[in-house]
Amino acid sequence: MIADWDGEAVVSRFDRETGAWIFVAIHSSALGTPTGGTRMRVYPTPADGLRDAQRLAAGMTAKWASIDLPVGGAKAVLALRSPLAREERQGLLRRYGRLVESLQGAFATGEDLGTTPADMAVIATATRFVHGVVAADDVVDPGPFTARGVLRGIEAAARVALGRAELQGLVVLVQGVGDVGLPLARELAARGARLLLTDVDEDRLAGAADELGAATVRAADALAAPCDVLAPCAVGGVLTAETIATLRCRVVAGSANNQLATSEDAARLHARGVVYVPDYVINAGGALALGLLGRGLAARDELLDRMDRIGEVVTEILVEAARAGEPPLHAAARRVERVLAAAPLRTP
Ligand code: NAD
Repeated sequence: MIADWDGEAVVSRFDRETGAWIFVAIHSSALGTPTGGTRMRVYPTPADGLRDAQRLAAGMTAKWASIDLPVGGAKAVLALRSPLAREERQGLLRRYGRLVESLQGAFATGEDLGTTPADMAVIATATRFVHGVVAADDVVDPGPFTARGVLRGIEAAARVALGRAELQGLVVLVQGVGDVGLPLARELAARGARLLLTDVDEDRLAGAADELGAATVRAADALAAPCDVLAPCAVGGVLTAETIATLRCRVVAGSANNQLATSEDAARLHARGVVYVPDYVINAGGALALGLLGRGLAARDELLDRMDRIGEVVTEILVEAARAGEPPLHAAARRVERVLAAAPLRTP
């Protein structure tokens, strides 16, 4: 699997105490220090964990390049055999932190699926190379930054694809009112958008709808609900040949990772006249915020403003795609290739 991969290196370790495998997949250092989150979950086999790390690391190379940040692509996976008790989990995180420290800055990390701000604080007791940990009880939450980036992406799509200079009156359906979806819904409401909210967690949905005076949609009906913008902020794989046929929106722009079931779905959306804003670009705000903070390139109180960059990049991609008459995903992929090709040669 390592020989067949187009990445640079995989650091692996078997954690005897927990039976977990640690995989640090370093995909590309062409633009800068390989950086990506740490995912922890149970995998059927260690090979599944390695495969996930390699796939996600390549995605990080594209994400950083698409927003022109001088950062390389990497991802770590802690592949568990079964869920861990608290003590075991903390031991694994500390040993993982020591492994990251031993790489002496060749890899930097942060939160991802299955890891929490508290986990980052534990890892940070063993290594300097964790982003977002200001103090043990002060770990920066990427959600609001991701949400601001998505907001800027929606504004850009509304301008380029719908000819709307403002969000006032635009109907936006937010699928999932969690760490990203809720702050996004607040930002949209503050700008006069007409919100439709949905979530499988009914209490959470009712709380968000009450707070914002928003209408709700049943989770099962959400993808076929009429709206201007559909913002998937829950799970991946929501855009399939079947669901795309039922969409009644003009733009899809949300934070969820891997929204397309297959890459052909970009062409299906395009054929139906739906403008799909590539997920890895519009959801890069959290990574961008922690990347800027971790490298000392921005102060904490400037980070929200720096998310304007996501809007600029989305505009450039949508304009390029509209000129070429192609799905925006293709324009985004070309942009990544251009940025990587222009990178100065570095020795991995
Ligand atoms: P979260 O777990 O805090 O929130 C997800 C919400 O979606 C929850 O309220 C959950 O109940 C709901 N949900 C789950 N399945 C659903 C369904 N089928 N229909 C409707 N609602 C459903 O997660 P999050 O951190 O807000 O992340 C949301 C998405 O954005 C994920 O795909 C994540 O990978 C992606 N993302 C998040 C960040 C970040 O900064 N947190 C950054 C980049 C990408």
